[in-house]
Amino acid sequence: MKIFHRIDDIREYNEELVEEIVFFENNTKEFIVAIIPNGFSEKYTSLFRKCRNCAIYQHGYDHYNRVQKGWYDEFPDTMNKDEKRSLILKGKLRLENILNIDIRGYVPPWNNTSLDTVNVLKELGFSIYSAQDNNTIKYFKNKDICIDIVNVYSPKILYKNLDIIYNNILTLSKYRIEIGIMYHFKNTTDEERKYIHNFVRKVENLNL
Ligand SMILES: [Zn+2]
Repeated sequence: MKIFHRIDDIREYNEELVEEIVFFENNTKEFIVAIIPNGFSEKYTSLFRKCRNCAIYQHGYDHYNRVQKGWYDEFPDTMNKDEKRSLILKGKLRLENILNIDIRGYVPPWNNTSLDTVNVLKELGFSIYSAQDNNTIKYFKNKDICIDIVNVYSPKILYKNLDIIYNNILTLSKYRIEIGIMYHFKNTTDEERKYIHNFVRKVENLNL
């Protein structure tokens, strides 16, 4: 059994987020960052160029919801395919230019997208797809997320009881080959961050 971590929604420059990325770089064997291209701060460049453990995936283009009813999606069926292609490509090129790497991994905002978008991703050369378990797309190498440490997203992020999450991971580890854990940091307090760090260290001890 292997464990990886995924930090979502990286866009505006934020010191706390920089510290988190450094923490994950130093304390985990594998983590993914999901970057929103539109508005992504170039101030992150030197940090990501130094990271060795970190895989950089594209996270939509603008993280803008276009679904009125139902599960949120930036690129739903109702949107024109050419329009999707041009926005996703624009995002891909922006990240590639800023970070000087090839972007091959994609994380759909809200872990959800349409079949049409999956075809666009194929056409644009993406080969890794990271969403929720039940959204596995056969064509890609999948980096499925099965654990979310957040309990409530709005108006403020509230975290789950991470002792319970840790026990869930112990159970899952009996029959899963890989466990993906999703993280969001926004106005996270120092105390919450310490709590999360302890959890990450404990989980990493399982990840041998
Ligand atoms: Zn997101």
